[in-house]
Amino acid sequence: MKRNKPIYEGKAKLLFEGPEPGTLIQYFKDDATAFNNQKKGTISGKGVLNNRISEYLMLRLEEIGIPTHFIRTLNMREQLIKAVEIIPIEVVVRNVAAGSFAKRFAVEEGIPLPYALVEYFLKSDSLGDPMVSEEHIFAFGWADPSELDEIRYLSLRINDYLSGLFLGVGLQLVDFKLEFGRLYEEGHVSIILADEISPDNCRLWDTKTGDKLDKDRFRRDLGKVEEAYQEVARRLGVLPTADIIEKLNTTKKTTAKKTTKKVSKTK
Ligand code: C5P
Repeated sequence: MKRNKPIYEGKAKLLFEGPEPGTLIQYFKDDATAFNNQKKGTISGKGVLNNRISEYLMLRLEEIGIPTHFIRTLNMREQLIKAVEIIPIEVVVRNVAAGSFAKRFAVEEGIPLPYALVEYFLKSDSLGDPMVSEEHIFAFGWADPSELDEIRYLSLRINDYLSGLFLGVGLQLVDFKLEFGRLYEEGHVSIILADEISPDNCRLWDTKTGDKLDKDRFRRDLGKVEEAYQEVARRLGVLPTADIIEKLNTTKKTTAKKTTKKVSKTK
């Protein structure tokens, strides 16, 4: 569907004005970036799959009482969402050492953590999303203590629930990133889950083979990127029908090119 200019363009999504006040349309692109934009490419069909996977997970979370921005899916690549004021913090929950955590502390990837760790990163491309502490969050006013309490509580509940859900389909939820927003409704402000939950922002390892079924296949040039996203959708029971998959597969396959800058961080 032809839309007006987006009001926001992110690396993997576009936001358009919604049909009613207080709503937005979230469009899922096939574009993929890694290492703070230093690696760019496309994963064909990713937008369609992430739209479905994120819809499925947000609906399951709503069922257990987690408030989310999801309203309904509009088409293959778009969903209607509640407009929120995004809190500029990326919340990462980790169950197993991997990625930037493994690198930062020089620990082997795959070592289980004693309990789920919550880390905060400032959403800032120009600063390279630095890790921040609660003190930084309060001092800069990115969130207040009661908001951060709520964010941490919701993040850990989401982790408990999603860990079980993924385990049920043979996937280990290693870590993931969440974003939250402030919803202003009838003079009342609440914190709700925003953004998306998909293999773009979760690490998912096959419990039997250890295979990575997430964006690390793109980040680390492991191949079979589209297949990994399709496999996650298949296990969750949201894989599109064969004719749609065929269409996705006949469009351009994953392309990835590195820009001239040296890749120096794992985010
Ligand atoms: O790179 P790192 O190990 O810190 O990533 C932790 C988790 O957060 C991974 O699942 C990764 O996909 C996700 N993440 C993300 N967006 C970022 C940084 C991390 O979705 N900007």
